[in-house]
Amino acid sequence: MERHDPARRRAVLVICDGHRDDFLRPETCPAIHALAGRSRRFLAHRAIFPSATRASSASIATGCWPARHGLHGNTMGLPDGGDGYRVHDVGDPAFVAALRAAKGRTLAVPTLAERLADHGGAVIASNVSPGAAYFQDPDHFGHVVHRAGSYGPGGRPLGPDEAPAVAHDGTGDEALAAWFADEVLLHRRPRLGVLWLANPDLAMHADELGSPTHLAGIAAADRCVARVEAAVEALRAEGEDVLLLVGSDHGQETVIGRVAVADRLVEAGLKESADSTDVVVAPQGGSGFVYVAPRAAGRIAAIAAFLDAQPYIAEVFRGSALLPLGQAPEGGLALAFAMARDEAPNPFGVPGRIVLCVSDDKPGKAEGAGSHGGLGRFERHPFLIGNGGGFAPGTVETGTTRLVDIAPTILRFLGLPRGGMDGLALPQS
Ligand SMILES: [Zn+2]
Repeated sequence: MERHDPARRRAVLVICDGHRDDFLRPETCPAIHALAGRSRRFLAHRAIFPSATRASSASIATGCWPARHGLHGNTMGLPDGGDGYRVHDVGDPAFVAALRAAKGRTLAVPTLAERLADHGGAVIASNVSPGAAYFQDPDHFGHVVHRAGSYGPGGRPLGPDEAPAVAHDGTGDEALAAWFADEVLLHRRPRLGVLWLANPDLAMHADELGSPTHLAGIAAADRCVARVEAAVEALRAEGEDVLLLVGSDHGQETVIGRVAVADRLVEAGLKESADSTDVVVAPQGGSGFVYVAPRAAGRIAAIAAFLDAQPYIAEVFRGSALLPLGQAPEGGLALAFAMARDEAPNPFGVPGRIVLCVSDDKPGKAEGAGSHGGLGRFERHPFLIGNGGGFAPGTVETGTTRLVDIAPTILRFLGLPRGGMDGLALPQS
């Protein structure tokens, strides 16, 4: 029998931001649930650390852990030009330029958009934060469509006739999904199409998990997946060989407290002042990173001991203890901590509760609402479905899979080299 022609192969990735694996139920998301039944479902899929969107976006795009691609989290410390550090918000559209100025590069390893630039190209349509969108392709090898500005190869700005600017809500998600299905998948036909939806993450942050708001956010994302799947089926009916991956980047848990950890370090005499650059804390929701300037390196052990003794912190990871988490003690990153958590239910019976690390600039979500970023069981459990592309339909994989496995899976299917990645192509049966 003739093998499939790799030149007629396309990959499509849809990320439903924040969708917890345990909410993949027929009554909450009928289209995704039905798709899972026709696909291979990865039951033990795992988030990166921190379980936050922006570094997750870079890990999905590169197939590498943050230790390799260099984007630490939703916020990160960069040298302040003197002998200290400042915390930057990775979601800011200007952050890519700040990172390039500080490090002489953006990501330290190539993205799928770069690897596919001469092999049919990539189109990424994202409705999450600008930072999460732009770290899919920070150096402009493909097309990135985002409401804060859309760019083509070489950084050419795309006009409104080439890229829609949609609202940052469920209606915007549905408009973007419709454009992605019709214009990108059926008309432009790049080798890789990525659609990253704001929901249900947006709805989960706004209200209690399990609330009607959360369920409406899931339903909106579900309609978007149905729209994309219909376009994929239309391509297959024409003879195209399409791999469809649908998943999420992390889950969320219920916020039960918020602590300004940097202020606690000042009170303990371990940081000079609220604005000082000797020791800075980069909040990641359910976790945080501490960057320490060389002049304060003698305080690292005391900082670790202080944090370890606080009831609002569950674990502290110092130096080489960062490596098993996929982070590295580089760029001033001296230690990380995961905030306290438990698996008790919220008023809607949804298990998993976390304390947040916050700051004046990053006040965090309200108590009772959903958030993420730490090591809680449910925030670390996104879902993943592989449809077509050799994945045995109606099967499940119970072994652990990771966000970094997505990129090598796409390259295996497209018949392209996948060297230099931390992840492994997903088992097909
Ligand atoms: Zn996310």
